[in-house]
Amino acid sequence: MIEPTAELTELLQGYRRFREQGWKPERERWAELREGQQPRIMVIACADSRVDPAHIFDVRPGEIFVVRNVAALVPPFETTPGHHGVSAALEFAVQVLKVREILVMGHGMCGGCRAALTQELHGTEPGQGGFIADWIEMLDTAREPIARELGITGREAERAMEQAAVKVSLANLRTFPCIEEKEKRGTLTLRGAYFAISDGALRLLDEETGQFTPA
Ligand SMILES: [Zn+2]
Repeated sequence: MIEPTAELTELLQGYRRFREQGWKPERERWAELREGQQPRIMVIACADSRVDPAHIFDVRPGEIFVVRNVAALVPPFETTPGHHGVSAALEFAVQVLKVREILVMGHGMCGGCRAALTQELHGTEPGQGGFIADWIEMLDTAREPIARELGITGREAERAMEQAAVKVSLANLRTFPCIEEKEKRGTLTLRGAYFAISDGALRLLDEETGQFTPA
């Protein structure tokens, strides 16, 4: 007998709503999806509970292929030992599903970006913050000018770090040979976006100006 916790009970209540309101009216869709998925867009977003891409983009099942992690980061193309989760997802999306677009979505009030800026987890042990510190170390180069010009606290510096992180991920995406090649051939588009939690507004990165403008 499974004894549900309060947390599981809440999840299961949501599941029952989904079965009634989400699954039943889309029964045909789900039957179709049983045959396979053909999403045309991959979204890379933060694991933050407030920024669910399926919710923000109001998409139906099967429409977007999503990877979420701390601060929506894409590591560079690396063949070092280890388990490269983002690279595996990219490989699948780009080479197997052949998505047409990859959207990297950063967001406001991002704890991962804040930690990158303050470096407060620096030197902590794995399991005590060390995994996060190691992960967001990817932002160190981008952090430097921000910390120098805007400091390491306050929304202005944080926003700059959050938006710079999107650019880091885009640059790292382009270190993957298959992605670089497809982008050059025009069969794959890379895009940066930024979701501000407080006003629910999405901005898109204009890579020519480096500015994020309202979508
Ligand atoms: Zn975040």
